[in-house]
Amino acid sequence: MEQDYESRFMSASYSGREDADIELSLRPHVLSEYIGQEKAKENLSVYIEAARGRNEPLDHVLLYGPPGLGKTTLAGIIANEMNVNFRVTSGPAIEKPGDLAALLTNLEEGDVLFIDEIHRLSRSIEEVLYPAMEDGAIDIIIGKGPSARSIRLDLNRFTLVGATTRAGQLSSPLRDRFGVILRLEMYSPGELAQIVNRSAGILGVKIDKEGADEIASRSRGTPRIANRLLRRARDYAEVKGDGVITKESAGLALEKMEIDGLGLDNIDRLILTTMIRNYNGGPVGLETLAAVIGEESVTIEDVYEPYLMQLGFLSRTPRGRVVTPAAYRHLGLQMPGQQMIEL
Ligand code: ADP
Repeated sequence: MEQDYESRFMSASYSGREDADIELSLRPHVLSEYIGQEKAKENLSVYIEAARGRNEPLDHVLLYGPPGLGKTTLAGIIANEMNVNFRVTSGPAIEKPGDLAALLTNLEEGDVLFIDEIHRLSRSIEEVLYPAMEDGAIDIIIGKGPSARSIRLDLNRFTLVGATTRAGQLSSPLRDRFGVILRLEMYSPGELAQIVNRSAGILGVKIDKEGADEIASRSRGTPRIANRLLRRARDYAEVKGDGVITKESAGLALEKMEIDGLGLDNIDRLILTTMIRNYNGGPVGLETLAAVIGEESVTIEDVYEPYLMQLGFLSRTPRGRVVTPAAYRHLGLQMPGQQMIEL
């Protein structure tokens, strides 16, 4: 299941190298190509222009929001707009303080260092980051035992862009060192349709308006999913149709992938039906739910819940998760103590 989660939502490599390469080619490179997130874009463009005017690196930026919303893409755009190198790493990849020290000392003036999943940095590594972010220096311990001494190494000025799915899990000393904190929102169907059309143009796929709307409305507010559904719809249109993605061919592809009209997949439905059938609709604790359906609790929290909550199908209460009447209606299930609701 963990693998499944990784493959479907987190990484670009869910169906091999080809898709990963395509995903890379679909990334916008400048702010004006980045669709939606108007608030974040507007703020960033001011900060970027101001920093450029002062000939200084941009302040450190923290981006947060569910996977696939465009955090990595935006970090790359920041580097591009600032005309500096873009260095990419992730919290789990930095195992020792020395790994981070090596990364930092290799940065050139103004570079953007992107740390994905920054909430997964260990405490001892975070401590290397504090003086680097604040004073542009790191302290290195040389030698062992009584003869050990610490020397301070000055770094080139740089911009740290951290990305996390969970801002709440970041330690507050780390969070406080970011000058810019931006929350990415789920995309509207209209914005997703623009993304689908843009991607179709890059891929050279023909798609009509209804086809793009169909994919957009079933992409859970997430560009990565919209692009993935577009590629699968293209396969269908090429093999079963005349190569043009229409409402029908897109609908057929989505049906085969068991994605319903609102974009819910098997796991979303399993979460809701398990809560309804086993727990009378809740409240259910996250850990209990995770154990029963065989998913990691972080997967449920980061990947599935945000969209279910956005749809108003699930709510969080102090006593646990609760399924709402709207979810019963969508699934065509009867609420306890009520007549069957007609769909
Ligand atoms: P995250 O880092 O938040 O998981 P990514 O930056 O990897 O998300 O985005 C996933 C894919 O979605 C990218 O390859 C890109 O093609 C597409 N994408 C994300 N945001 C946008 C956007 N605002 N406009 C156009 N495409 C986008």
